[in-house]
Amino acid sequence: MNGMNGVVTSVCETGITVYPNIIGGRRVPPISGEMIDVHAPGDGLVFAAIPRSNSMDVDAAVAAARIAFEEGPWRGLSALERGRLLLKLSALVTDHMDELAELESRDCGKPIRQGRADIIALARYLEFYGGAADKLMGETIPVSTGYTAMTIREPHGVVGSIVPWNYPAQIGGRVIGAALATGNTLVMKPAEDAGLSLTRVAELALQVGFPPGVFNVISGYGAEAGAALAGHPGIDFVTFTGSPQVGTLIQKAAADNHIGCTLELGGKSPQIVFADADLEATAPVLVNAIIQNAGQTCSAGSRIVVERSIAADLIERLAPRFSALVAGPYHTDPDLGPLVSAKQRARVASFIAEGEAGGLRIAARGSISPEAPAGGFYIEPTLFVDVPPHHKLAQEEIFGPVLVVSTFDTEAEALRIANGTDYGLVAGIWTRDGQKAMRMARAVRSGQVFVNSYGAGGGVELPFGGFKKSGHGREKGFEALNEFTATKTIVLNHG
Ligand code: NAD
Repeated sequence: MNGMNGVVTSVCETGITVYPNIIGGRRVPPISGEMIDVHAPGDGLVFAAIPRSNSMDVDAAVAAARIAFEEGPWRGLSALERGRLLLKLSALVTDHMDELAELESRDCGKPIRQGRADIIALARYLEFYGGAADKLMGETIPVSTGYTAMTIREPHGVVGSIVPWNYPAQIGGRVIGAALATGNTLVMKPAEDAGLSLTRVAELALQVGFPPGVFNVISGYGAEAGAALAGHPGIDFVTFTGSPQVGTLIQKAAADNHIGCTLELGGKSPQIVFADADLEATAPVLVNAIIQNAGQTCSAGSRIVVERSIAADLIERLAPRFSALVAGPYHTDPDLGPLVSAKQRARVASFIAEGEAGGLRIAARGSISPEAPAGGFYIEPTLFVDVPPHHKLAQEEIFGPVLVVSTFDTEAEALRIANGTDYGLVAGIWTRDGQKAMRMARAVRSGQVFVNSYGAGGGVELPFGGFKKSGHGREKGFEALNEFTATKTIVLNHG
């Protein structure tokens, strides 16, 4: 699809909605005029188009963000005023709940209740960081008599943000909130597969009074717009969520520019179930932790590590729940939607095929709704049991509704298996023994640990990020404000 008249979210005669770039407060087409078709995962049909931005579009966006940071009214706003703008944006997002939830669900394929939950989380991020903006404080440091030393948290400047397709509104929201609360300006590149809601949020930001250039959105392919943004000499910090392979490229690009970065690179999060766990309460949470967003969640509880003596009992409770799962179109609010793309479906299907070919036992498999259009990217949720912990399916991030169960005999073995992958993002521990729970929580190598629960309602307030190859840096919570700022030390000699 070519050409565009610069009007945001305009619907062409073909019924396709066009989402332009938002640069310097203006809705602009890509310099090349080239657009990318956006397919709805539910039926595979094209329903929107985004710019295929190149390095020239990225130059324009970074320049707009630089001007906004150095010359515009943004620099003159107090922390309180920045916070109030975020609170206004949160309220406007909430006013647009139905529209944004529908867009997020259609774009990503997620059940409508999940789309809604994601927009609620987006509004909550903006609210949380709006409230936090004027509560980030420095310290005074006792030095020699006659001197006063203090620290101030300063924004980095222009932040580049590369967002994946699994939770555009949520992951975008946590970056927008923390980066803007601290006074940075932002150039955000959503994923080419799904990310339309972020263009709408940038429009709403203009509506509530964010100065032009403070929040820019450029769309395009990762290897083009994404790489140009990550390696741009005009950015001061870069934040990325996505695959480990691209994370490596981002970190190298940041190193070339001598800037900092945060990387959130997914996980293979264990749910460790001890024999004394309340299995009736545990089983539905375990199922939900893998089927939410069709398993395309970095913090998905994607492997169960269960004490051998109760493994059969647990599987007996999981299997019927898994068999009853139905993947269907987002607007029917199914248990789970389709995967985001044909590529992602092929990737997940190849893991399942490899498990079957290798003789792994499938204890249960869900189904695809008869209402699901043939062109959609649906896949049956699958429960593998008796999986050796070193097997590929128990080691690699599948990013689909595939759950693997491995067993252990001792607490030490449970810990070894839990810590025995490259990842370390989240862990769940299920036991009624408080001391055991605390011992495990301290010993497991992951950024978040949940005891007798999992996920804690999205966790806007909770610092989030990885150990090991799950990445580095912390997002969410108050701690993200430290990531998006640098400490400046000022020393006064007053005699
Ligand atoms: P990806 O890492 O390629 O894409 C994530 C984002 O990075 C997108 O915005 C993309 O445009 C951008 N990108 C891609 N190449 C880039 C480059 N060279 N420079 C800069 N930006 C670039 O992920 P994918 O290919 O869409 O998915 C592959 C696998 O990655 C998935 O199956 C899943 O295992 C994992 N993944 C993890 C997360 C997560 O939340 N941790 C999110 C998405 C994908």
